Amino acid sequence: MKFMIRFKNMINSHAHLDFDDMNAIAENAVAIVPSIGKQNWIDVQMYPYFAFGIHPWLVDIHTQSDLDYLEYLAKCNNPVAIGECGLDYAKDIDKEKQVHFFTSQLVLAEKYDLPIIIHAVKATEDVIFLLKKHPKVKGEIHGFSGSEEQAQRLTRMGFYLGFGMQITNQKSTKIRQIVANCPLEFILIETDDHTTPDDLSLVAQEIADLKQISLDQIITQCDNNAISLFNLK
Ligand SMILES: [Zn+2]
Repeated sequence: MKFMIRFKNMINSHAHLDFDDMNAIAENAVAIVPSIGKQNWIDVQMYPYFAFGIHPWLVDIHTQSDLDYLEYLAKCNNPVAIGECGLDYAKDIDKEKQVHFFTSQLVLAEKYDLPIIIHAVKATEDVIFLLKKHPKVKGEIHGFSGSEEQAQRLTRMGFYLGFGMQITNQKSTKIRQIVANCPLEFILIETDDHTTPDDLSLVAQEIADLKQISLDQIITQCDNNAISLFNLK
């Protein structure tokens, strides 16, 4: 479908609006804006809904004092979540260090009762293992890329799964199957670092097609999922 109405109330659950070239999408977006580390902890606060975290790709440039400052921000500056953080084993970054930073951020999420936004690439099993040690923490695996079975375990634990433009690729059969089978109550729509404003509607339409549910219902439920997870006012 070429023409698409852009719904005003559609919530983008994960968009890096503060990155360069995001102006077109940032204009009308209602979005959760995650941070990637100390370099954008100030910038993300320009948006109504932001999160503080340290991305696994950037653990090497962060220290314990950055984690201490992250705790101060979590406590004092009203983020909607901790993140993005997590584990990425596709990158050549020390695993132990990644686990340390991820665990520290899980502790913060638990301590300040905030949901957590997780980046998990080739590491979903270890992420689940660490989440089980912090059963009170809720959150989302953004840009989910795990298996069907892992998706089931995560949603049973109450975790939400975020899906983006990847699912519109007809060749991504595995992830499209996961979307088709995942309960709608656990799905979030996102565009991550994509710069095209229509992407959010395209993802929603794809979910509607895969699940054979009306686009309207998809948008309403996914909006409600984001509102409830991130406690949006
Ligand atoms: Zn991201």
